[in-house]
Amino acid sequence: MGLDFDVAIVGAGIAGGALAHALAPQARVLLLEREPQPGVHSTGRSAAMFMESYGPPQARALTRASRAFYTAPPEGFADAPILSPRGALYVAWTAHAAALDSTEAGLRATGTVIERLGPAEALARMPLLREHTADHGALLGALWEPDAMDVDVHALHQGYLRGARRQGAALWCDAELQQATRTPEGWTLTLADGRTLRAERLVNAAGAWADVVAERCGSTPQGLQPKRRSAFTFDAPADHDCRGWPVTAAIDERWYVKPDAGQLLGSPANADPVAPHDVVAEELDIATAIHHIGEDTALQIRHPRRTWAGLRTFSRSGELVIGSDANGLFWLAGQGGYGIQSAQGAAMLAAALLRGVAPNDALRAQGVQAAAMAPLG
Ligand SMILES: Cc1cc2nc3c(=O)[nH]c(=O)nc-3n(C[C@H](O)[C@H](O)[C@H](O)COP(=O)(O)OP(=O)(O)OC[C@H]3O[C@@H](n4cnc5c(N)ncnc54)[C@H](O)[C@@H]3O)c2cc1C
Repeated sequence: MGLDFDVAIVGAGIAGGALAHALAPQARVLLLEREPQPGVHSTGRSAAMFMESYGPPQARALTRASRAFYTAPPEGFADAPILSPRGALYVAWTAHAAALDSTEAGLRATGTVIERLGPAEALARMPLLREHTADHGALLGALWEPDAMDVDVHALHQGYLRGARRQGAALWCDAELQQATRTPEGWTLTLADGRTLRAERLVNAAGAWADVVAERCGSTPQGLQPKRRSAFTFDAPADHDCRGWPVTAAIDERWYVKPDAGQLLGSPANADPVAPHDVVAEELDIATAIHHIGEDTALQIRHPRRTWAGLRTFSRSGELVIGSDANGLFWLAGQGGYGIQSAQGAAMLAAALLRGVAPNDALRAQGVQAAAMAPLG
């Protein structure tokens, strides 16, 4: 009996969607999504930033490799630009002097475009920074990343899914992978509703559930750890036009704030380890953010408008996990806090590995090293 699909991908978030888009021109692709629609979990809950300064070395290399596609996607991919200018400001007070120096040195060593700003220049970018704080001393300055961008995550994700379907890929929602077993030709998959199908290759792009899915496929989990990150929106101060403010973060990642559709988005930048689930923000997360933002800025947050949380899922090394394990299951997981900005680069690498061809020039030029992201065992 023939196989139903060349590649079945579990999870239709940004990772699975981008890979389906990359593979669809040359393969019969099936995307399986447990929820009634894609984008319900991490992909629909992000802060929508593209920052080449953010993440461990390989995540940043994949991010750099993604920029060209996001800047000039294929004709008809999206109605609106995927990236729009924002800029990022990492702010330090005197207590963070060492962190400011080491972060600057680390970013310069890897070629990220950044500028060191003094207090006045930092205030010119974000006028509500406190010049003196009780706990961290005087405003020392900031690192400015001019090329940091906002991402239209919805347009990117929908562009991938629409483009994949146009090229023949199938997307099944309400389709939870329950079990997969190896066969001489590939895999037999059983869904939670009892359906079965056969595919030559099986990709695990299940986000926070990737270790759960691995066990359902007879593979050894990678030790992935989902971590809760919470966020909220609040009213911008009436006497400031905040729309052009950069994303502004304390350099020690205690909080960040960015403009968001006429309001401001804040986060305590928390990373609380939890089991995979449909996560919500804890009241304490939001209170902590309000407290820290109030310590370092003159922003007064009285009523958060909307609060939410999502899971950022980390491998043991902190890098993405991309490649086949000893059981033949292909992993595209461990996207941490970088899964949106790195999605195109990760999909290009995964597609090359699945096809058994060398990574393309865009990946090589950015220093992407597949071996650094290979699954353990
Ligand atoms: C508050 C917050 C801010 C963030 N900010 C940024 C940012 O600014 N920039 C950035 O690049 N990244 C950011 N991230 C990280 C980014 O959101 C994630 O890295 C990315 O969305 C992960 O995508 P994914 O496709 O791996 O996971 P998901 O979007 O979670 O998709 C996985 C899918 O797999 C499905 N699934 C699970 N198990 C099964 C099964 N058995 N069968 C079928 N389907 C299954 C799930 O239903 C889910 O839809 C942020 C995250 C959070 C929470």
